[in-house]
Amino acid sequence: MKTAVQIASDVQRGASSADEQLSLSLEAVRARNEELHVFLYVDEDGAREAAARVDDVIAKGDNAGPLAGVPIAIKDNVCQRGVPTTCGSKILQGWRPPYSATVIDRLLAAGAVPVGKTNLDEFAMGSSTENSAFGPTRNPLCPSRVPGGSSGGSAAAVAADMTPLAIGSDTGGSIRQPAALCGIVGMKPTYGLVSRYGLIAFSSSLDQIGPFAKTVTDAATLLEVLAGHDPMDSTSLPEPSPSLVAHLNDGVAGKRIGVVTELIEGADDEIVNEVRRALQAFRDAGATVVELSIPELRLGLSAYYLIAPAEASSNLARYDGVRYGLRVDAADVTAMNEATRTAGFGDEVKRRIMLGTYALSAGYYDAYYGQALKVRTQMIDAFARAYREVDFLVGATTPTVAFAIGEKASNPMAMYLSDVFTIPTNLAGEAAITVPFGTGEADLPIGVQLLGPGRSEAQLLSAARVLELADGRP
Ligand code: GLN
Repeated sequence: MKTAVQIASDVQRGASSADEQLSLSLEAVRARNEELHVFLYVDEDGAREAAARVDDVIAKGDNAGPLAGVPIAIKDNVCQRGVPTTCGSKILQGWRPPYSATVIDRLLAAGAVPVGKTNLDEFAMGSSTENSAFGPTRNPLCPSRVPGGSSGGSAAAVAADMTPLAIGSDTGGSIRQPAALCGIVGMKPTYGLVSRYGLIAFSSSLDQIGPFAKTVTDAATLLEVLAGHDPMDSTSLPEPSPSLVAHLNDGVAGKRIGVVTELIEGADDEIVNEVRRALQAFRDAGATVVELSIPELRLGLSAYYLIAPAEASSNLARYDGVRYGLRVDAADVTAMNEATRTAGFGDEVKRRIMLGTYALSAGYYDAYYGQALKVRTQMIDAFARAYREVDFLVGATTPTVAFAIGEKASNPMAMYLSDVFTIPTNLAGEAAITVPFGTGEADLPIGVQLLGPGRSEAQLLSAARVLELADGRP
């Protein structure tokens, strides 16, 4: 499949049309969606209309935007007006949002064509997409394995060449981890860079929307479209969208790069070997590499599993059978709320609500939630100290390559550990990218993670581009 940049150029100059590109995408979806379960809903009519609008703009001789006619997959926790949005949960089944997320408006304005809504772990809680109420997604590279999660459907859509681009959300790793397991590029932008308006909230202080793509250039092009201030999101950064594509060939010459012990310890040897090979590629490109230890990162997982469930327990209180989706009738309102939530939420979501409610309850608040917030502050300080020594950091994205469906489904702790290397960035509100680099067991892809301070997206993308070239991709 062509890259998004190539498609936009073909469509804009009339060598192809948005409608033709959409047909190719829908054909690829039809060929494998039953097997892989990537899309929960394909919005063929809406996509045809969006494509027709792009083709009209071009027929008039106007510029249709940087993503002219590019099909894109949307994680099903992003609201799109009139399109069923489930969050992978029975509690929202049948709900059609009355408004669109800011990112949807931005994509349409840039000429992109949203094809449909992709599968995810229920309310984005999980690392394998097995927690979806509608059944798991399979990894397109090896269908007996998971695609990662929670944005497993979005990662799989791109890996299976159904769409060249997708968007997902990353609260603790849900873009980077599935991107790594599916062999594609995924980026968690700085908190506030991309509007969260219309993203169904899981953990509001951690959630961030970001891009999936096969190439670093496509990811940068998409992120430029998504990023920028939004008055509808009070945590949106005030600055305009950063210039990313213009910096893609900046390279890493003269940069100081830190490889972090805590971001590789415990990873399989084959993954550590690829990280080491990536460091050599950076040295070959003129950077200096130093080894660093940031012991605070070891506390990330524990702090995350208090803060994220605490925020989720509050955010998910709104699913009461009155305002949205499912209602299970009962004798009175309280019984109806209880019956609705009992039937509507899956086990992992219930586990998080219970953990979070406990962590916030009187008598435990200081010991759990308060303590986790202190750890979070220590991690922010520790990252800041590291960025006084080096320009950016390197580690593994995941401890293993894609694991088998069912392998970790009954062991929450083993599942949580899939995100041990990605979670610290979310707690710090900073930026990180995963780029495919080499392969491991069964020829499955390995992702190398680059982490930087807030608003370092341009630097991280240009460094990822160095690895992409070193790994033999054009
Ligand atoms: N896997 C992590 C969790 O289950 C992260 C999920 C995410 O980033 N949405 O919470």
